[in-house]
Amino acid sequence: MRTAVYPGSFDPPTLGHLNIIRRAAAIFDELVVCVMRNGAKECCLFTCEERAELLRESTAGLSNVRVDTHTGLLTDYVRESGSPVVIRGLRAVTDFEYEFQMAAVNRKLNPEMETVFMFAGEEFAFLSSSAVRELARFKSSLRDFVPAPVERAVREKISALEAEQSR
Ligand code: ADP
Repeated sequence: MRTAVYPGSFDPPTLGHLNIIRRAAAIFDELVVCVMRNGAKECCLFTCEERAELLRESTAGLSNVRVDTHTGLLTDYVRESGSPVVIRGLRAVTDFEYEFQMAAVNRKLNPEMETVFMFAGEEFAFLSSSAVRELARFKSSLRDFVPAPVERAVREKISALEAEQSR
């Protein structure tokens, strides 16, 4: 059985992530979407568990997709899970340098690990979780950018944060 791991921050999951998930799930027997707790990136609107739950809701229709969480190095997760294939999405040249470096470092740490890149779907090439967070703060519609359960959760989270700040 061929399993692949799709790791990321997913803060929040977007339709761009879902596009990669669907396409990878069509190629592999099983896809494990792994929410990483220790990204170097600035995050997070949602906790790791909340992000995992949003991914579970958004992938409920995909029977060979499983969602997991991990604290620590991706190479350790990959070694423990026994699946050496890691999926990453590429949107633009700007992603390339970061992804190329990560793939090289990870391969050094775990020579068994193979990173497979998938180009973003054209309509999602501009889409990022950080853009979604920014739009949400300004109350813009998120309908074209995230699955419906994610849009609801983002709205609730932003309102809760605003209520907290105004106290
Ligand atoms: P990370 O913090 O690990 O980069 P992200 O959640 O930002 O996590 O992204 C996870 C993976 O999905 C990365 O490989 C990223 O390049 C890719 N990705 C992010 N947004 C999109 C998108 N709109 N289309 C395709 N791939 C994407």
